[in-house]
Amino acid sequence: MSSGDKLFGRLLNRQPLLPLAPPDTLNVPSVGLQLHLDAEGRVLHLTGPLRHALAQQVPAAQASPLLDYLMPHSSLAVEGIPSDWQGQMLDLDFYSLSGHPLHLRGWVQPLANGWLLQLLDIGDLLLERRQSRSREHNQLLAAKISEQLRLCSLTRLADVLADQLQSLAQRLHIPCLAVALLDEQGQGWQIHQHYAACDAPQLWENNQRLGTGLDSLSGTAVHHLALGELPRLHNIFGHAEGLAVPYYDAHGVVAWLLCGCYAAQRCAADLNDSDWLLLTAALASPLLERLREHRHHLQLERLDSLQALLGTGWLEVFSTSAEVQLAPSLANTLSLPATRVPLNEWLDRVHPADREELRSRLQDWQDDSVPLLLCVRLHCPDATQAPRWYRLQGQTLGAGKNRRLVGFMLDISDIKTQEQNASTAHARLDNLIASSPAVIYVQRYVEGALLPTFFSASLQPLLGLELADCSAGALTERVHPEDRDRYFERTRLLLREGSVRSRYRLRDSRGDYHWLLDEAKLLRNDLGLPVEAVGLWLDVTEATLATEQVKQSEERYRILVEDSPAMICRYRPDLTLTFGNRPLATYLECSPEQLPGVNLGSWMSDEQRAAFLQRLSRLSPDVPVSTAEINLQLPGREHAWWVWSDRGVFDDQGRLLEVQAVGRDNTEVRRSQLQLTQSAKMATLGEMATGLAHEINQPLNVMRMAIVNVLKRLNSGDVQLDYLTDKLNRIDAQVQRAARVVDHMRVFGRRSEIEQQPFNPAEAIQGTLSLLAEGMRGKGVELRISQTDFEVQVRGYIDQLEQVLINLMVNARDALLSKRETDREFKPWISLYAERDKQSVRLWVEDNGGGIDPRLLDRIFEPFFTTKPAGIGTGLGLSVSYGIVENMGGRLSVKNTVEGARFCIELPIADDDQITSDARPD
Ligand code: ADP
Repeated sequence: MSSGDKLFGRLLNRQPLLPLAPPDTLNVPSVGLQLHLDAEGRVLHLTGPLRHALAQQVPAAQASPLLDYLMPHSSLAVEGIPSDWQGQMLDLDFYSLSGHPLHLRGWVQPLANGWLLQLLDIGDLLLERRQSRSREHNQLLAAKISEQLRLCSLTRLADVLADQLQSLAQRLHIPCLAVALLDEQGQGWQIHQHYAACDAPQLWENNQRLGTGLDSLSGTAVHHLALGELPRLHNIFGHAEGLAVPYYDAHGVVAWLLCGCYAAQRCAADLNDSDWLLLTAALASPLLERLREHRHHLQLERLDSLQALLGTGWLEVFSTSAEVQLAPSLANTLSLPATRVPLNEWLDRVHPADREELRSRLQDWQDDSVPLLLCVRLHCPDATQAPRWYRLQGQTLGAGKNRRLVGFMLDISDIKTQEQNASTAHARLDNLIASSPAVIYVQRYVEGALLPTFFSASLQPLLGLELADCSAGALTERVHPEDRDRYFERTRLLLREGSVRSRYRLRDSRGDYHWLLDEAKLLRNDLGLPVEAVGLWLDVTEATLATEQVKQSEERYRILVEDSPAMICRYRPDLTLTFGNRPLATYLECSPEQLPGVNLGSWMSDEQRAAFLQRLSRLSPDVPVSTAEINLQLPGREHAWWVWSDRGVFDDQGRLLEVQAVGRDNTEVRRSQLQLTQSAKMATLGEMATGLAHEINQPLNVMRMAIVNVLKRLNSGDVQLDYLTDKLNRIDAQVQRAARVVDHMRVFGRRSEIEQQPFNPAEAIQGTLSLLAEGMRGKGVELRISQTDFEVQVRGYIDQLEQVLINLMVNARDALLSKRETDREFKPWISLYAERDKQSVRLWVEDNGGGIDPRLLDRIFEPFFTTKPAGIGTGLGLSVSYGIVENMGGRLSVKNTVEGARFCIELPIADDDQITSDARPD
């Protein structure tokens, strides 16, 4: 070591120097600076190499004070005179030519003629010390930054990072400071967080993409970017100076600290590259770690929620401890007390039905490391609840002591339920197909042709065929020759339209034909090209034949109905026609098509319609049929008489829905009947002629007698007014009587009314007697008439009932008179009496004429049957009478009594309501 070095070492150690004996001469080494001072401390002389660096060159002649050389803050160290400074270490800063202070350290030592101030340059020493201090600070700062970033909560990470960037920037006077990290794709760089002083330009913003420009820099060195250097980075640093410090780890460069508008060497001269790298690492390392931690945390969170959503969770079965560890959510679902439980406790949560299987599978894994895959149900004490299904899957991880089964339990209840539903539905469908007359088939599409590839099992029972019997060609063969065109058209249509519905006959294994309803659909692939046709054959043989038969029989019935001479129609209860055949249409003078909607009642009089509806109202499901003769007023015609049969159609509640009717025109018959009645009536009148003459003669005789008597009195002049009045009154009474008889004869001779009317039968008895009584008495026949003035109404024609009564009485008279011819003493009588009960009124005509020969009793109502000589009897009286009474809904009968014959006319009493309705004014 040189003596200078020793001295330097002492200086550094700041050990006070020992006072030396004052030398006489300046035999000091030529290093540093020596100042010769006088006793007052004025500089006399300068020696040493450093004197050239001083700012002030003092002329040798002039002794200037030491303070003139020193910077102001050093003046304190040299207060007083040199003798005061002796034994002290003096640190003095001199003005230098370079402008920087010149740091010198030294001491004074006496000389013979003054003092020698010996000084050495300690500038390097100070710089080094400053640098080491600043490094120390840096390290502290780095540690603090790192600690802050490491210890803060994840939610505050961004704020803490911003704070740290700010304090770093402020401390190092960096205008723009940012951390750049790789973007999510790891492709380019991105500003993660930045700080900008308030007066700094806005170089960056958070999340700004920087591209890949930084990749052109070496990832191990600090880059001081001077102006105009590296044009690729200009857009990052905004054409200003800057600093880019990388941070790298095992993956390479993963972060950059960027300082913008910053000349590091000038502004932070004390920091060297390793300091910058350290600071950057202190910032980036914990930041990246925390970000990784954050990502991991998020992933865990997602995993947890995924597990919860899926009803799944991981599990680990340990081979050594017979324990199982489960994800907390899974343990919770299984109601386990902890996440790690003995294996048996976990197995207890599995349904007993599946438990042993799971145990055995676990054993397989234990023994042979067979991976686990099993679906199990959870044990649920409530049997009414649907079981919860879990899929258990696991594989071996680790070896030896660490060997364990790692897997998951996934809730597949939904899938299982669907699976079960689907298999139930499938089974049902299978059953259905098996038991239905249907075959499902699949035909594969090959170059425009459809080749059968599948038939459901029902093919065998239905057609006795197998798939092999149904190759494309064989199938065509089986189609009925008449239906083949239709079958080919079906295939063409299916390929063209994508679906088809067709019907054709197919021969089964026995050679019988089945009508098949074929419904098929074409399935296409993603490109829209046909792949296969799926279809269904439904055996509709029975239905088709039945329909055919129905069609045929319908056709037959239609023809029958159309061609029938009878009138056939259907109408609603309000008499609106829904159908009518041609004969009906012809009668109603329209076409059959015009009939629906026409009201049948419009051809009837009010009475007829009321009676018709009354009759319909009596129809019931038990008595659905009713027949009557109805009377209609047809367009432009006389009255028509139809014998009409109605059949009611009822619904479940017994309400009348519709009436089907068949009618026959009875007008001609009716007309001849009327004519017959009329002629019979005329015959009766003829037969009555004698009686009638008597009837008229009687009053004429009385009148003649009265006139003769009056004339006699007039001639004798003995005419009293009273006598005259009396005679004239008698004549008047007789005139009236004769007029009544004639009047009644006129009424009786008229044709009957068209429609039946209600009347009291007593009136008919009166009418009959008015015509006959006198004549009878004249012939000596006694008339026994009992009381008949009761109030009762029957329905019919009063003149016709009278005609019946006249017939019966005339017949009785004839029998009586012929009997009297043989027996002069014989006392003939005719008895006429009536009685009634609730339903009917009976009129009796009885005589004592000896009665009717019992052998003829059955025949006397036959037309033209008579026992009277030709020219006298017509044989029509009783048969017409029979018809009249029957037409009134009654019955005419005869019996022999002891003395003679007894005829009975039984007539139904008209319903009260009917009478009321008839009495109603129109
Ligand atoms: P006609 O009087 O023209 O012979 P009817 O039909 O009235 O025709 O009578 C038929 C027959 O019935 C008579 O010919 C007669 O033989 C018999 N007859 C009718 N009424 C009586 C009666 N009251 N007593 C006996 N016979 C009778």
